[in-house]
Amino acid sequence: MANTLAETLTDSGLIWRNGVPLRNLCHWKIGGPADYVIEPRSAEEAAAAQRIAREANVPFLVIGHGSNMLFDDAGYRGVIIKLGSRMSRCRFSGSRVRAEAGIWAPMLARACAGRGLTGLEHIVGIPGNLGGLLYMNGGSLRQSIGDAVVRVDILDGQGNIAAVSAAECDFSYRHSVFQEKKSIVLGVELELQQSTPGEVRRKMLDILRERREKFPLDLPNCGSVFSNEPRLYEAYGPPGMVIEQTGLKGARIGDAELSVRHANFIVNRGRASSADVFALIRHVRRKVLERTGFLLHCEVCYAAPDGRCGRLDAFL
Ligand SMILES: Cc1cc2nc3c(=O)[nH]c(=O)nc-3n(C[C@H](O)[C@H](O)[C@H](O)COP(=O)(O)OP(=O)(O)OC[C@H]3O[C@@H](n4cnc5c(N)ncnc54)[C@H](O)[C@@H]3O)c2cc1C
Repeated sequence: MANTLAETLTDSGLIWRNGVPLRNLCHWKIGGPADYVIEPRSAEEAAAAQRIAREANVPFLVIGHGSNMLFDDAGYRGVIIKLGSRMSRCRFSGSRVRAEAGIWAPMLARACAGRGLTGLEHIVGIPGNLGGLLYMNGGSLRQSIGDAVVRVDILDGQGNIAAVSAAECDFSYRHSVFQEKKSIVLGVELELQQSTPGEVRRKMLDILRERREKFPLDLPNCGSVFSNEPRLYEAYGPPGMVIEQTGLKGARIGDAELSVRHANFIVNRGRASSADVFALIRHVRRKVLERTGFLLHCEVCYAAPDGRCGRLDAFL
């Protein structure tokens, strides 16, 4: 008789749990139970997790810190592969650093500052893991993580571990090839420049101070919900300003609220559901479309219970 997935996981020696509330694995604090969560400690364990899910014919999804994810109230019928603190080593060699995908971006930025390496100050306030940051090509202050990438180690769709160059990553604004290829980012090599620890730390403190003033960091949120698009920006400004000018700041459905501090953030006022967030996003898009003729697109990703995952607006 074939083993159940739970038996296979027990035999594998991987670290796994079942029935894990996804609200505990994401910043929005929303989401029902995932059938299985695996936390690999190495590239080989990540490959084993992917292979086991494939052989069991269940969907799988890799996540980092869950800072750009909306999970569904119904949870996830498959395997979540979480690349986090168990896979977060980094090694320096001159002005280069090689880091595993699970390292928390602010920790990596601080480790670089300690060595006087400049180039990653802009990620010090972004609460995601390096793999998720790569996937999103995230960044701030008109910079993106892709600017510093030399190469990326991946697990491809066939389960092979391979290296891809920065050019092959096809980085552009909040885009990388990993959004289409569905590879798992395992580690990254970055090239930085030499400065001094004091100078790098000073820049980071300025950035953190500015972010504390601008963003509603006291309530669960997922950062910017809608992406900044050049045509909209030129005509009306960034999405937060457009939403505010549409009179929607503070609008609330259930416990999901457009932050009064920054209208491109949706905060969870307590018991927000994924349905509340969906309804609020639909409402904002309709009102902004009526006023400006522009349809807002989502930066935030959504994982459906049946295993599909992508930018949230693909599911509206
Ligand atoms: C308060 C706050 C402020 C924020 N500010 C910024 C900001 O200034 N700039 C910015 O760019 N973003 C910002 N964000 C959004 C978010 O932090 C980034 O998008 C971050 O890079 C996501 O990383 P993560 O590990 O949390 O990814 P997750 O949310 O876990 O996943 C996001 C997507 O990446 C995929 N993914 C995750 N890990 C991997 C991997 N190893 N391999 C392949 N795919 C993977 C997931 O499948 C998912 O589709 C902010 C979020 C919050 C909550």
